[in-house]
Amino acid sequence: MTQIQGCCVATSDAELQNQLKKLSQDHRPAEKLPRSPYLSVRHIDKRWQQLNQADSQAELLDAHTQSQQDCYHKNIENFIGTVKLPVGIAGPLRVNGAYAQGDYTIPLATTEAALVASYHRGAQLITAAGGASALLLRESVTRTPGLIFSGIAQAGAFVAWASQQIEIFRQVAESTTTHGKLINASLHIEARYVFLVFEYHTGDASGQNMVTIATQAILDYVMAHTPVQPEYAFLDANLSGDKKATHQSLTHVRGKKVSAEINIPAHLVQQYLHTTPEAMHQFERISTVGGTLSGSMGIHAHYANALAALYIACGQDAACVAESASGITRLEVTSKGNLYASATLPNLMVGTVGGGTGLPSQKACLKLLGLYGAGHARALAEVAASLCLAGELSIIGAFCAGHFSRAHHKLARPLKADI
Ligand code: NAP
Repeated sequence: MTQIQGCCVATSDAELQNQLKKLSQDHRPAEKLPRSPYLSVRHIDKRWQQLNQADSQAELLDAHTQSQQDCYHKNIENFIGTVKLPVGIAGPLRVNGAYAQGDYTIPLATTEAALVASYHRGAQLITAAGGASALLLRESVTRTPGLIFSGIAQAGAFVAWASQQIEIFRQVAESTTTHGKLINASLHIEARYVFLVFEYHTGDASGQNMVTIATQAILDYVMAHTPVQPEYAFLDANLSGDKKATHQSLTHVRGKKVSAEINIPAHLVQQYLHTTPEAMHQFERISTVGGTLSGSMGIHAHYANALAALYIACGQDAACVAESASGITRLEVTSKGNLYASATLPNLMVGTVGGGTGLPSQKACLKLLGLYGAGHARALAEVAASLCLAGELSIIGAFCAGHFSRAHHKLARPLKADI
């Protein structure tokens, strides 16, 4: 085996040379997809004719999908069908939130064995202990245009003008949306670069499109009225934290910031997790050190598992797991020897209207939660944080009890007798 560190992997020098030869550019014309990206029977047929894979077509474009295909037209381009994912249910998870109140059975879409079982166990433990307290702390979604001026003086003159325009910016932004509200605007100079930070409330929508459209309107206004023209202007210059974990993830908010917490009597920790509050606390301490050594943004075990499965089931933008799955889990032993556990997630990008929430399966999952439609986004955020807390308790319990590997072996590679 030849390995050039950080470069490539090959089993011999000859294979390595062969691999490198393949990297030269290939200028043959590629077969093009039918011109229209839109959803119509004619174009779907054309795409499949070109793909020429009958088995895949039968699976992806089954009769049920065909009967519903029109509903996808705002959510996909170059449509060829749907992927079926298994959905499991975890819960009931009792949430005593400012907005989420009750016992939630939570649909999770995943192909990962042991995931639903783990959240189910954590949810049962939380419910047995009286439910997680959950509090929405802040909400805002940002878009952050970037402008490049010829020099610092021009950038400064622009900022002097723009800082007097905030009220007009608000009116312009809010002319594009009924539910979106511009709640804050700030300006940052970095030499001849100017970043504008626009923060919005987005109602019950997760809001990425809403803030994009509103901010484009502000940028159009800026370009038409600024006394100092920038050399370049971009709608977003990467200060928003859109779809990535950033250093500001923990101190700012993107979407919704929620803390969830629970006090669990030691006997329930023993009964459900087969371990002790002290062992859970020790795990939290060493994994905080491990997370610090690894450069992790925040400290937690696996928020991404809950959020990816919940987001996919409920029509959220699954790529937002990139920023949503950051935060801090804490596990402490109380003066009475019980377990205090909390999870704080500052970047929950969730909505109960818009995006993929109205699609048939996704709407059905939100309805299972009792959280479909207007008036439920804040509750969904509190449920999501409580679900993450459930997952933290369960996985950390499994590590403490030495059951982590065993659970995966049993559920992902079951013997026939187990099924
Ligand atoms: P959206 O479906 O584009 O917009 C939400 C719509 O729902 C708006 O038309 C809004 O009207 C309406 N609405 C009705 N009742 C509402 C209520 N109670 N609260 C809020 N809105 C209500 O969804 P979005 O959340 O803005 O965008 C999410 C989608 O954007 C996701 O699919 C995501 O993948 C995608 N996305 C976009 C970008 C981008 O930069 N464009 C980036 C990443 C992801 P009003 O506006 O008139 O209030």
